Amino acid sequence: MTTEGPKILLIEDEQEIRRFLRVSLGSHGYRLVESATGKDGIMQAATQQPDLMILDLGLPDLDGMEVIRQVREWSQMPIIILSARGQEHEKVQALDAGADDYLTKPFSVGELVARIRVALRHAAQGAGEPGEPVFVLDALRVDLARRQVFVGEREVHLTPIEYRLLTTMIKHAGKVITHRQLLKEVWGPDSVFETHYLRVYMAQLRRKLEDDPARPCFLLTEPGVGYRLASR
Ligand code: CA
Repeated sequence: MTTEGPKILLIEDEQEIRRFLRVSLGSHGYRLVESATGKDGIMQAATQQPDLMILDLGLPDLDGMEVIRQVREWSQMPIIILSARGQEHEKVQALDAGADDYLTKPFSVGELVARIRVALRHAAQGAGEPGEPVFVLDALRVDLARRQVFVGEREVHLTPIEYRLLTTMIKHAGKVITHRQLLKEVWGPDSVFETHYLRVYMAQLRRKLEDDPARPCFLLTEPGVGYRLASR
């Protein structure tokens, strides 16, 4: 058992998943603290001070949502939720309540580790380090200081709303962002139900930025939940 590496709290009542993650996350250098119930998990979150929490939404004692709400009262640690397929509504609620990302069971260790890295990187940036002045993702390059967008060598001209939508996605790069969060950040709190704005502007952005707007490589759809800017 190593004493270095980020400490992760896993709140999950299924023993098999705990065993699987203990081995696989351990082999990636993460230290794991485990909890099988919501109440115990909240207690561990306070006493163990983990760097990140992985939370199963279906717990025997407390609703996972309640765990998020309680923990968010005093902690900004990244929370990645685990949920069953077909529970999009629940995922959206959890994300809007303050969770950072989600994985649908069954998931691969590769996916989980990628999500953990993105979440820990965002947490570190939130702690003061400013974001990069130039955002690069494959052929997409956004110079945030000059407000210029390029795909390969070609400069792309965006409207102010398109640009704001893109930079909001960049701010959350690699993480899922719900429709509601995007609408709020780009159009303001009065527009959180205007999902057609998003459909229209996302389609415009994809036409300008993607090789094939029907099969986007940058601006990905998370069905029933929101969008995700692909991660590097
Ligand atoms: Ca469960």
